[in-house]
Amino acid sequence: MQYLPIFTNLKGKAVLLVGGGHVALRKARTLLSAGAVLTVVSHQFEAEFYDWQQQQQARLIQGDFDDSQLPGHWLVLAATDDDAVNAAVHQAATARQIWANTVDDQEKCEFIFPSIIDRSPILVAISSGGTAPVLARRLREKLETLLPQHLGPLAELVGRFRGKVQQKLQGFAERRQFWEKVFNSNIVSLVQTQQLDAAETELAQSLSEHQTSKGEVYVVGAGPGDPELLTLKALQLMQQADVVVYDYLVSEPIMQLVRRDAELICVGKKAGAHSVAQEHTNQLLIDLALAGKKVCRLKGGDPFIFGRGAEEIEVLLPHQIPFQVVPGITAAAGCAAYAGIPLTHRDYAQAVQFVTGHCQKDGKEPDWHSLSRPNQTLVIYMGLMKSAHIQAQLLAAGRAATTPVAILENGTRPEQRVITGTLAQLADLIEQQQVQSPALLVIGEVVALQSKLAWYGKQPTAAVFAQPLASLA
Ligand code: SAH
Repeated sequence: MQYLPIFTNLKGKAVLLVGGGHVALRKARTLLSAGAVLTVVSHQFEAEFYDWQQQQQARLIQGDFDDSQLPGHWLVLAATDDDAVNAAVHQAATARQIWANTVDDQEKCEFIFPSIIDRSPILVAISSGGTAPVLARRLREKLETLLPQHLGPLAELVGRFRGKVQQKLQGFAERRQFWEKVFNSNIVSLVQTQQLDAAETELAQSLSEHQTSKGEVYVVGAGPGDPELLTLKALQLMQQADVVVYDYLVSEPIMQLVRRDAELICVGKKAGAHSVAQEHTNQLLIDLALAGKKVCRLKGGDPFIFGRGAEEIEVLLPHQIPFQVVPGITAAAGCAAYAGIPLTHRDYAQAVQFVTGHCQKDGKEPDWHSLSRPNQTLVIYMGLMKSAHIQAQLLAAGRAATTPVAILENGTRPEQRVITGTLAQLADLIEQQQVQSPALLVIGEVVALQSKLAWYGKQPTAAVFAQPLASLA
């Protein structure tokens, strides 16, 4: 983050503005609308400055800027048309650790003015950090049309009830749930249609009738890593949750989309290094939900595909804790698509099997003969550590040594790696290329299409698609 957006309270605070022309005038209007008291230094002033002087919103000093004018001011703006003067103002202000802004000279800005969408008391500030002001302006125009005008009165109404709600409802989570309910209710449309008294009556009634709601668990699939592969429902529940219980497979950019003030609990699981026992996670979900929390159990991929989603739900049943399950794009589907491997194809694979590389609980081996049939695709999750064993068993059961294989490391993420070879080379490739978790193994004839269909991280060229697929070997 190049700049930290903070909202400052300028009411009654002294701000020094050096410059009295039309650029300074624009800044003065913004500062006055936030309640600042201005000292303006200039040789000449636009007419409006004199009005402000009369209304005691501004004090005008006719003449040159000098250092002795700075003390007592919270912010300083250099807005003259003389670069040397602006530079001197900036230097003098920063030497005294007073926040300085030089109009149209980003290098000499300790703070910048964002684009503002004003639905007071709701304010939205947008900045491109000076890099793309036109883009920021377009964004602002878009948001202007998205944010309804009634947001302001709605926020005012809510503001008037804040104290009462705080008194009646104990705990942050409960208050948040109450407000969520209000914002999903008829009260919003009453405000929208200017029926402010009716809205106020209804809000008062909701508060007096409010019952503490029970906790809930959302078991949510977060997909393989690219945040744009999240479902809308996943995003919505990630934004509603009081607590997010997540594991290591959930990528950092996805965690950035979780509600800012939600409590985050990592129960990271890595093959061979279970940092939190499953029983502990189960108990955690129960305890949080019984305490009335909305718990988002965020899992990589899909919660019901090698995700222990069912086990975590089963333990909720005796406690009658309500739950929802949100499917996610499982690693096989996501990573294969981003690698350019169709998991089935009329000519090469009529079936696909998702298999875990981990042994079953009783140590039993899978049916290697069924897994070794040609013209089907095998996708092996958690297969890195057992790759030599998997390779040997498939070969022994009759899968051809020349069967194409792909190792998909960090699929759908910017650091994605796709390594291809044959079944005979599988374990060697993993060792030579030092493949890291998370990685999937894809075994089957369809992998041969990868060299033609790869697109992620590459510019697609017309030639790739010009060839009929059936001619690919
Ligand atoms: N429920 C998850 C799977 C959990 S098991 C799902 O539906 O995807 C964990 C295994 O998933 C990892 O060992 C790896 O084999 C695979 N995996 C998950 N995300 C991956 C990714 N981005 N790239 C490659 N493999 C991934």
